[in-house]
Amino acid sequence: MRTRLTNIAQLVAVPPGPVSGPTLSCPPIFRDAALVIEDAKIAWFGSATDAPQGPYDKTIDVTGGTVVPGLIDCHTHTVFAGSREEEFVRKIGGAGYLEILEAGGGIRSTMRAVRAASVEQLVAASLPRLQRMLASGTTTVEIKSGYGLSPEEEIKMLRAVRAVGERLPIEVVPTYLAAHALPPEFDGRPDAYIAAVTEDALLRRIADEKLAEFADVFTERGAFTVEQSRRFLEACARHGLVPKVHAEQITQSGATQLAVELGAASADHLECVDDSDIAALKASRTIPVLLPGCTFFLGTPAAPARKLIDAGLPVALATDCNPGSSMIESLPLVMSIACTMLKMTPVECLVACTANAAAALKRQHRIGAIAVGHQADLLILDVTNVNAWPYRVGVQAVRTVIKQGRVLQT
Ligand SMILES: [Zn+2]
Repeated sequence: MRTRLTNIAQLVAVPPGPVSGPTLSCPPIFRDAALVIEDAKIAWFGSATDAPQGPYDKTIDVTGGTVVPGLIDCHTHTVFAGSREEEFVRKIGGAGYLEILEAGGGIRSTMRAVRAASVEQLVAASLPRLQRMLASGTTTVEIKSGYGLSPEEEIKMLRAVRAVGERLPIEVVPTYLAAHALPPEFDGRPDAYIAAVTEDALLRRIADEKLAEFADVFTERGAFTVEQSRRFLEACARHGLVPKVHAEQITQSGATQLAVELGAASADHLECVDDSDIAALKASRTIPVLLPGCTFFLGTPAAPARKLIDAGLPVALATDCNPGSSMIESLPLVMSIACTMLKMTPVECLVACTANAAAALKRQHRIGAIAVGHQADLLILDVTNVNAWPYRVGVQAVRTVIKQGRVLQT
């Protein structure tokens, strides 16, 4: 099967990640371009005048639109049950974290809803969210557990994560986040909880059934200490789960240094990173993932994106889609927020949501780029250039989603 995309006004040829420095700010851009897909992979791209001769099985006329790689959302909590709009309204009224917790809100309220749901109910609650993500251009999504908060409930969540990936043409990357919060039955006993969710038989089961690729932890005051986080991630790594860390979101805890030390795939959030954290990231292959949806949703300080980019780091962006601190499904919206609040340019945002997000999921050799041999995950946008995409905030600009060379009906 050989497909040709013609009449591309602008083709943003994002190279394979991790991408940093001048290429992050100025990836190659072709005007009046064409692209050839062969057997689900990109076979050729460049100026239309140089396009290889046919025959082609199919021609897609892009009619002056822009073509970019499919977006990759490398940090989400998209599988959950229940809804927390009451809490959203209470926060608008000025309610603080503790007040919400005492009223039965916060992570534990989602935990109760998840525990009460079956795998099938979790899937049914989550599929519409994933469908909307796909329609807004996300072709690969990482999804974490972390609302079950017991061995069996976390396994149940991971089964639901797998099931949503089987029902939609979106690649789902599962992450084991049992160390998200302390469940009530372990109040005051965080070490006992870490021991329970790192029990050898449990981790072996997760590894054997391939229920997760990554392990993640919320290292923060009120959640888990650096030492508890280390214990959790090291135990998971012994079973092949690659570490990730929720780092420096509310306070500077040393989580970024831990991520680097353990060779984590990514350190995520980073609102409170300091210069020594940036230096540690610079000397590592850990991808810094920024989640400006939280900044927007909670009105909290933003991560120092410009400082990280100027330090030469391959910054990635993600939605952090979750019911409490970022009920945002759209990566294009996150790109708009990153433009205005993090002072990233539209092309930097695009690279951050493709090549660098692929690197945060250890898939940079296969997805996240427009490169010969890469999987043909592509978007056709209803804009003549990439700058116009995040500029038109909240406007659906994704006309066509192509996954593995196949045009999807979104
Ligand atoms: Zn998160």
